[in-house]
Amino acid sequence: MQLIADDLSKIYNSHQGDILALDRVSFRTHDSEFVCIVGPSGCGKTTLLKILAGLILPTGGEVRYEGPRSDAPLNAMVFQEDSVFPWMSVLDNVAFPLEIRGMSRPRRHAVAREFVNRVGLGRFVDHYPRQLSTGMRQRVGIARAFACNPQVLLMDEPFGALDPQMKTVLQEELLALWSAHARTIIYVTHDIDEAIFMADRVIVLSGQPGQIMADLPVPFGRPRAPAVRTHTAYLAMRERIWALVRGEVMKVLGGAA
Ligand code: ADP
Ligand code: MG
Repeated sequence: MQLIADDLSKIYNSHQGDILALDRVSFRTHDSEFVCIVGPSGCGKTTLLKILAGLILPTGGEVRYEGPRSDAPLNAMVFQEDSVFPWMSVLDNVAFPLEIRGMSRPRRHAVAREFVNRVGLGRFVDHYPRQLSTGMRQRVGIARAFACNPQVLLMDEPFGALDPQMKTVLQEELLALWSAHARTIIYVTHDIDEAIFMADRVIVLSGQPGQIMADLPVPFGRPRAPAVRTHTAYLAMRERIWALVRGEVMKVLGGAA
């Protein structure tokens, strides 16, 4: 499935006046591509994902999904903050979107159990979110997104609230899941290292209003060992993206970069 963002703009009307959050953003993904979008806080990353998900409408431009016909849902979104239901067990949380789609209870529980196992929560199927750590709850969100088998997966800083060790482990888990269940992923983060480690391609957004400043292929194959982070090409790419983002942050601070 290919996702096309065609000249997307978004203006929010607030009581402080109009806010231009996104300014003519265009890109096209390839089939099963892992695209990371990085940019400073407030640059419109969440806005862009919500538009791609169809949760809000752009002020200008359009989103298109192009690919073979399928019964699978077009997209699923994993949010930055906890999006699990506190009153449901881990298994029921993961099975919930399948229930909405009318899948029988034994069938949806079988599918949910498979993905709960895949994210390492097999022993916790009957636990409730309050009994889990933040990292485990994010794993539930990821299992749920994969279980509903969307054609495109939209992820908004899903590991943003985790400590660096947990983040690294979940990044590797997500890549393993993605290689077993390939599909297009749009993954938003403000973490440049995370973007380069995970993505086939990194799109860099400017500060508000978000505009595409760079669209860079990541020159590493798969599977990707953690040691790529010490590669010269990795460091050069990190430097290049950081220079762009730093310039944007400095504009906001009103200082010289
Ligand atoms: P990011 O996810 O990159 O941090 P957002 O997409 O959340 O950025 O926000 C982009 C800009 O739009 C920010 O200036 C934010 O304050 C503004 N914004 C976001 N949502 C709304 C809204 N519902 N109403 C008004 N302004 C908003
Ligand atoms: Mg955001």
